[in-house]
Amino acid sequence: MKKEPTVAYFCMEYGLQSDFKIYAGGLGILAGDLLKAAKDLKKPVVGIGILWRQGSTRQVIHENGWPMDCFPEYRYDFLKDTGVTVRVSVRERPITLKVWLCDCFGNAPLFLLDANLAENSDRLITGQLYGWFHEERIAQEIILGIGGVRALRALGIQADLYHFNDSHPMFASFELIREEMKAGRSFEEARAKVRQSIVFTTHTPVAAGNEVHEHKLLEYMGAYNGLSYEQVKEIGGDPFNMTVAGLRMARLANGVAALHAQTAQKMWAGVEDAAPILAVTNGVHNGTWQDKAIRDAYLAGRPLMPVHKRLKMHLLSEIARRCGVRLNPEALTIGFARRAAPYKRGDLIFGKMELIEPLLKNGTLQLIFSGKAHPNDLTGKEIVSKMVQMAKKYPSAIVFVQDYDMQVGALLTRGCDVWLNTPLRPLEASGTSGMKAAMNGVLNLSILDGWWPEGCINGVNGWQIGDGTQGEGEEQNDRDRDFLYKALFDEVMPAWYQHPATWESMMRMSVQMATDRFSAARMLRDYYETMYQAAPEEPVKTQA
Ligand SMILES: *Cc1c(COP(=O)(O)O)cnc(C)c1O
Repeated sequence: MKKEPTVAYFCMEYGLQSDFKIYAGGLGILAGDLLKAAKDLKKPVVGIGILWRQGSTRQVIHENGWPMDCFPEYRYDFLKDTGVTVRVSVRERPITLKVWLCDCFGNAPLFLLDANLAENSDRLITGQLYGWFHEERIAQEIILGIGGVRALRALGIQADLYHFNDSHPMFASFELIREEMKAGRSFEEARAKVRQSIVFTTHTPVAAGNEVHEHKLLEYMGAYNGLSYEQVKEIGGDPFNMTVAGLRMARLANGVAALHAQTAQKMWAGVEDAAPILAVTNGVHNGTWQDKAIRDAYLAGRPLMPVHKRLKMHLLSEIARRCGVRLNPEALTIGFARRAAPYKRGDLIFGKMELIEPLLKNGTLQLIFSGKAHPNDLTGKEIVSKMVQMAKKYPSAIVFVQDYDMQVGALLTRGCDVWLNTPLRPLEASGTSGMKAAMNGVLNLSILDGWWPEGCINGVNGWQIGDGTQGEGEEQNDRDRDFLYKALFDEVMPAWYQHPATWESMMRMSVQMATDRFSAARMLRDYYETMYQAAPEEPVKTQA
């Protein structure tokens, strides 16, 4: 058997533990779960990231109902000092980066770069995750990409493959090219060689989520790393598109669900010389996200509902403590927690209040919302504030849990009865909270987007909203809203209130569907089989 390739996994954020706030959301939790799976499966993976001194936003709701961002300075006493520092150049000035090791959350080794040193003129360049402005973002990406490769060298870690999780680490490829050119290769030779060692995961199908930079700015910031305008343009175009660059620097790329891979193929079809885009569906780490009591009951063939009721009670008492609202444990309780973005359509269920309001008032339907907006995203904050208003209007039936983080995520995906997801298809790349819910027997009620078309057997292990076809614009909103009501009134509510045996069997089918197929272990095995396995020397066949 061939030796398994050692993979250096690069990502801007990592969600390993709720209070270690170097993550913002799904991308980071995916990265954290992958490192945990690597540890469990003893795969030779190391992570490269940034030690965000102020983390991502702690977003609390002001008395006036508007989300407010706080950035505490965190202490990270649990990290190990590797004794290694590396340097990068930003705006032609040196920045020294200390390299910390994080290996205490059941994860494969994660090396974190930290600019918070007295000798640096800007110690907070590694301050806020996705914070600051355009120039600082590029500086942070220089630190992650170029600093990350230098850290691997300084640590003496030999990587066979570099996996870029989303495009933020793109500049790592410029450092790898620079190394090869220093060894005497031409730019074209260096690029071709380096390309054999890079794989790239693309995430967002929302155009605005794909970063574009002006060349002038890249050059000024030092991102060129010794390359010329023509060379950099050949990789990412002008203006420089980070995703396009990823596709042109990787030997293979992937989307994060089967449907998303198709969407990404269409989206980037016009990019010449792009890597083929395969599909590796995301998964979540069972040890982190699946409640042990549910898992044990499932494996022993014992009923799941008694365990679920305990988890629901735990959630409701936590909500009473945090929000001062006592929800009814007998009432059907639907959870919805997302980053606040318009395409997620958290308000779809309120589309016809005349249908929903009676249920909220007679106590047969309870809704628990959570979510954060990016600090600079006013539209997202508007969405959060609308949810807060709804909770104020129906205080006994709707709650909004502030400061969505891994702990809130874990509580909700264990303790709700139903997990609602209503994205505008096909904009949900994968969605992993639904997988967490599914493996706890919390039944998904979701648009057939992201991972759900792969898991859903309608009426057996959860429910689909709609038929997987698309309308246009507002029409699609109206159709999806009506499909949501149809599923809710005709199937979900009758099952909860009248057919407990059906519910019990659906919970079991849900756990069965998700436990292995949507685990991070399965995902990592897939990465090894489809993306990592070919030895770097072997030419990779491109798709016809
Ligand atoms: C799981 C999780 C996510 C990602 O879930 P989606 O379904 O992609 O929205 C985001 N944030 C937190 C805190 C999570 O636990």
